[in-house]
Amino acid sequence: MFEFIKSCEVCNPGEVEFIQAVSEVAESVKPILDRHPEYRKNKILERMIEPERIIIFRVPWMDDHGEVQVNRGYRIEMNSAIGPYKGGLRFHPSVNLSILKFLAFEQILKNALTTLPIGGGKGGSNFDPKGKSDNEVMRFCQSFMAELFRHIGPDTDIPAGDIGVGAREIGYLFGMYKRLRNEFTGVLTGKGLGWGGSLIRPEATGYGNVYFASEMLSTQTDSLEGKTCLVSGSGNVAQFTMEKIIELGGKVVTISDSSGYIYDEEGLDSDKLAFIKRLKNIKRGRVSEYTDKYSEAVYTEADTTLDYNPLWNNKADCAFPSATQNEINKKDAQNLLKNGVKLVSEGSNMSSTPEAVNIFLENKILYGPGKAANAGGVAVSGLEMAQNSMRLNWPREEVDNRLKIIMKSIHLSCLDAAAEYGVPGNYMMGANMSGFIKLADAMMAQGVV
Ligand code: NAP
Repeated sequence: MFEFIKSCEVCNPGEVEFIQAVSEVAESVKPILDRHPEYRKNKILERMIEPERIIIFRVPWMDDHGEVQVNRGYRIEMNSAIGPYKGGLRFHPSVNLSILKFLAFEQILKNALTTLPIGGGKGGSNFDPKGKSDNEVMRFCQSFMAELFRHIGPDTDIPAGDIGVGAREIGYLFGMYKRLRNEFTGVLTGKGLGWGGSLIRPEATGYGNVYFASEMLSTQTDSLEGKTCLVSGSGNVAQFTMEKIIELGGKVVTISDSSGYIYDEEGLDSDKLAFIKRLKNIKRGRVSEYTDKYSEAVYTEADTTLDYNPLWNNKADCAFPSATQNEINKKDAQNLLKNGVKLVSEGSNMSSTPEAVNIFLENKILYGPGKAANAGGVAVSGLEMAQNSMRLNWPREEVDNRLKIIMKSIHLSCLDAAAEYGVPGNYMMGANMSGFIKLADAMMAQGVV
């Protein structure tokens, strides 16, 4: 395996996040490769880490002052063995090839876990929607789609949202695609309810993560009721994670954005959550403004000189990282355990560094890796595609029930794979193994392509 990682590093120089994601999976699937020499002979893992196609393009646009701006656009079409490429678009200044390749690689295994016929991809831009006017965001999205439209389609590649790409951006992207192609098809998911979107799609990643956490707790005949929970982020995933935790009787005491975090000892209730939703989705403000209305809460400014995140250093039972990759490092993991946390369920992708994951596994707490725990979002995107193809809209209860069934099934397939390969209760290895086997078998059946 050492040789494999070495050659991956040589082929993908400097792509730290991508190598991190590949290394974790390569280690996890070693027992499968030992038992199935045909996967090794057919170089399944080597093929899996090589994207089928990478598209990189210029995105020029004009800001409100009449000045020309230039960003870089990407789409990684990673693997289409079990369905058309599917995965979100991220607009954030940190976006680069390594981050999008790690996300695309995680996505192919995650999508395999959902039981739906969807391959994997990811894309985005180093464009920062923060601080831009609606018109600037629209002009950027239109320019981005003016190139992307020729590479995607409802049976080829179906992007969705991710960091910095929410309902507003999906609307502008869809409008431009429709204009260029002169067709109304389900080419993007996360659309508005009145124009092809699915009920429960905005909620799906957060709700799905909480369903997954509840499944993990149920293996210990426990539940979220009365549990104190730390949540990071305040975007789409964080908001609906909080909503479901509150509904199930848990207490959420933290939220954050990249500027800092809020600690509210009393816990968030539905009024406070409604305030956050308005603040973030409509006003596009900062979480620091929470204390203007709820003065009992404490705001702590982010401090990049610290080697840990103080948000993870509060007394709690459960943690739901929902902001970005590697947001829990070794010291954060130690702090979580010290403060009594017994469950970590990842809403963000690759939330924890490898050292942090090892600490969770060594201490045998319930650890749900992102590619399993946050798969509810893409699963409901798959259901949105199904509804678009049928030109039907399912009611809320139907989509929510299907989401619950899918999360239950992902949970079970992680546990089954982990038990079969001698690592019972290890959701990280179970998720990697289960997703890998489904994808490997499809690739084997389709020959060397
Ligand atoms: P979002 O709505 O844009 O919210 C992202 C949140 O995370 C914001 O509060 C943002 O704060 C914070 N954040 C982003 N980058 C950060 C950084 N470098 N340091 C600290 N905070 C940071 O995005 P989202 O859709 O909720 O996505 C959150 C995570 O969930 C991502 O890892 C994404 O890949 C994953 N995910 C999303 C979905 C989905 O359906 N949307 C599905 C599966 C997984 P600022 O506002 O200050 O930037």
